Amino acid sequence: MSDYEIETVDADPGVAADEGPAPVVAVVGRPNVGKSTLVNRILGRREAVVEDVPGVTRDRVAYDAAWSGRRFTVVDTGGWLPDSSGLAAAIAEQARLAVDLADVVMFVVDATVGATDVDESVVEILRRSGKPVVLTANKVDNAGTEADAATLWSLGIGEPHPVSALHGRGSGDLLDAVLEALPAEAPPETFGEVGGPRRIALLGRPNVGKSSLLNKVAGENRAVVDAVAGTTRDPVDELIELGGKTWRFIDTAGIRRRHRENQGADFYATLRTQSALERAEVAVVLVDASQPLAEQDLRIISMVIDSGRSLVIAYNKWDLLDEERRHYLDREIDRQLHSARWAPRVNVSAKTGRHMEKLVPAIETALDGWGTRVPTSKLNQFFADLVSSHPHPIRGGKQPRVLFATQAGVRPPRFVLFTTGFLEEGYRRFIERRLREEFGFPGTPLDVTMKIRE
Ligand code: GDP
Ligand code: GDP
Repeated sequence: MSDYEIETVDADPGVAADEGPAPVVAVVGRPNVGKSTLVNRILGRREAVVEDVPGVTRDRVAYDAAWSGRRFTVVDTGGWLPDSSGLAAAIAEQARLAVDLADVVMFVVDATVGATDVDESVVEILRRSGKPVVLTANKVDNAGTEADAATLWSLGIGEPHPVSALHGRGSGDLLDAVLEALPAEAPPETFGEVGGPRRIALLGRPNVGKSSLLNKVAGENRAVVDAVAGTTRDPVDELIELGGKTWRFIDTAGIRRRHRENQGADFYATLRTQSALERAEVAVVLVDASQPLAEQDLRIISMVIDSGRSLVIAYNKWDLLDEERRHYLDREIDRQLHSARWAPRVNVSAKTGRHMEKLVPAIETALDGWGTRVPTSKLNQFFADLVSSHPHPIRGGKQPRVLFATQAGVRPPRFVLFTTGFLEEGYRRFIERRLREEFGFPGTPLDVTMKIRE
């Protein structure tokens, strides 16, 4: 079991839960200039560990940080330095790494030492990259040593920012400079309009019992028909109170409209599913438990997964099941619903009302999973352990490695892995499985992408 505390983003309507991917700030510099101390300072000494031994490999390298309300990820690239190769080569390598993956580079120089040849060669790399660099003159512990910082103008990469990572002097101004160098903030990425009751799409192929289920929940509970303005025809949602909350059931008019079996019905059903998904946060896919899973059931479930919405699978018509069918059903689920194993399942009967009270908790579980954010430090502890216990197989003499990862967003949880090479499909599936084992994520697809360092 995991002992991690996962921050779930509150589903409070009206608050944008996802501010988009956090930009990456990489901290670069020779050993002992104070990189870890600086990272500690930025984090308010919450997480990072200062190693007094130079060159010690730190396995935790990326951390969530915020300044003046702006989120970013700080990466201490010093942690990757194997000090087998010469120092200059190792630092150059580290600088290239930082330049590849970061949005802003904090280049740290020990002002009490001044610029060394190694520093000069790093500057060359940084300058060529064109990435914004914040020159950090560290160990300026008092006003008397500020002149030391000024000499670093000679590096030709702009203003040196004097700071004492150890005592905090100048750190506010330094962070202001970092913020200024960050790329403009991306607008929040959320699906559909934010706020109001949470939005449910009731999906499933014809005759699985969608309108029966809707009648059941709407009939026994207060339902308010709510016309959503449209252009040609008005799609109608229903606001239904369930389990003490109001939910918006999307396009209930479409569910209730009786379709004739005619040509193109399939096409329109797909279209309806697609447009309902666009507005939904969670999809409840109904399947007829009394019959074998149909191609169309699987297609609808795939559509939900591809749309990035959260998913609950409701097995309807449970009243019709006999022992034999029940036995087959379990096997069928294992075999055919492998890709949606994480979806909460409810076994219901719209006819008898069986287990209808389990629907809302399942929906809430899925929405929680959908909005889950794992703190960067926990995520990187996880990847450090994973990479050492289960490294990627060697391919063509190379062994791609996950350097660090960030969670770029929620709804659904999106992860960006910074890697030294292409991770093959099997390994990515393994990562996803382990992420789920460690952090849960019930009811939600996960979006895992790679940023490969060439
Ligand atoms: P790194 O190898 O670049 O990560 O450097 P560390 O953060 O481990 O710091 C190396 C040493 O420098 C440690 O002994 C720190 O306490 C010291 N140090 C770091 N920042 C400052 C500072 O602002 N002033 C002074 N006087 N010492 C510092
Ligand atoms: P829709 O096309 O998905 O909206 O499906 P309907 O709600 O129209 O249901 C199709 C048929 O299945 C109707 O004859 C319903 O009475 C029946 N039905 C729906 N739910 C159940 C159930 O839980 N048990 C049984 N035995 N029949 C059901």
